[in-house]
Amino acid sequence: MIPYKNNQNRDDIDQIIKHLPFSFDGQRVLITGVAGFLGSWLAESILTMGGTVIGIDNFASGTIQAVEHLKSVGNDQFTFLNHDISKSIDFVSPVDCVMHLASRASPFEFVPYPIQIMKSNTLGTMNALGIAKRHGARFLFTSTSEIYGEAQLFPTPETYRGNVNVLGIRGCYDEAKRAGEALCMAYFRQHEIDVRIARIFNTYGPRMRADGLYGRVIPRFMDQALHGKSITIFGDGTQTRSFCYVTDQIEGLLRLCTIPAARGEVVNLGNPMEITIQELADHIIHITHSKSSCVFEPLPPDDPTRRVPDITKARELLEWSPRISLKSGLRRVCDSLKFQGDE
Ligand code: UDP
Repeated sequence: MIPYKNNQNRDDIDQIIKHLPFSFDGQRVLITGVAGFLGSWLAESILTMGGTVIGIDNFASGTIQAVEHLKSVGNDQFTFLNHDISKSIDFVSPVDCVMHLASRASPFEFVPYPIQIMKSNTLGTMNALGIAKRHGARFLFTSTSEIYGEAQLFPTPETYRGNVNVLGIRGCYDEAKRAGEALCMAYFRQHEIDVRIARIFNTYGPRMRADGLYGRVIPRFMDQALHGKSITIFGDGTQTRSFCYVTDQIEGLLRLCTIPAARGEVVNLGNPMEITIQELADHIIHITHSKSSCVFEPLPPDDPTRRVPDITKARELLEWSPRISLKSGLRRVCDSLKFQGDE
């Protein structure tokens, strides 16, 4: 289902590593949500840079394929625990860094799984912070642009306080991530844990799920276009997003969790190039040479009208900005899906 072959995305891993001014040699990193899209890419990058990774996941939305190949990439420097991080954990092995990614993230999942989502970002965040506290480890929390809700300020800076519908269907994710951020700051202030918070904007790349509840817009449109199915645009397609290619996102996350000046900081990570969902569909039809046409379906409630990050802080603090254009990133995704079809 998902193409995970050793070295298949080696160019992408090299793209991440070559721009980093540090390595992970000798570092021990705990990643929750390691079987998810970003968790798996992070783990593979850190293992390739000589680090040791202890990965935790309960396969709520992650997949076995996302962790299977890490054993060979990591030369036995990868271990895996099948565990739900929202439940308590006696983790004793020392770590230098904890990265807490575990959470369902697709809006389709918000409807059937709101309690799990709230737990992984609140109880899960407390459990993961507890591990960081025990070992004096750095802590990276992957928050989201969703905490801004239906934003009224564009591009949206970290200082914007958000406009979230607490009671709406997205509330479980938005408010849980907001609580997760507040927990990080509580541990930072009270226990002086070295926390860093990433507000991740829409990210895409090879290995992202397209199936069922898990499919986000780019893998869904790609899958539809490559199989000659109708492209399902929700609403009239005028809503916007800003899409960041996975190698850029992973580079940003690794910088955020490593650079000393980022201690206690919250940083937007995303690509500020904003496009409408209709334009995205047109790009994908063009890149895949598809004969698919668009069909229009109802817009889900509270689907944000615009989303575009202000990344001034990331540029200044992390010396980071995205390198991969949308067209080039979409081509890479398309190539990886074609490769999968060849199998
Ligand atoms: N979307 C769409 N068709 C789909 C899936 C998503 O038009 O088949 C739209 C969705 O309504 C939203 C945007 O694409 O406006 C991005 O959706 P996604 O699920 O990727 O994440 P979101 O940014 O909403 O969290």
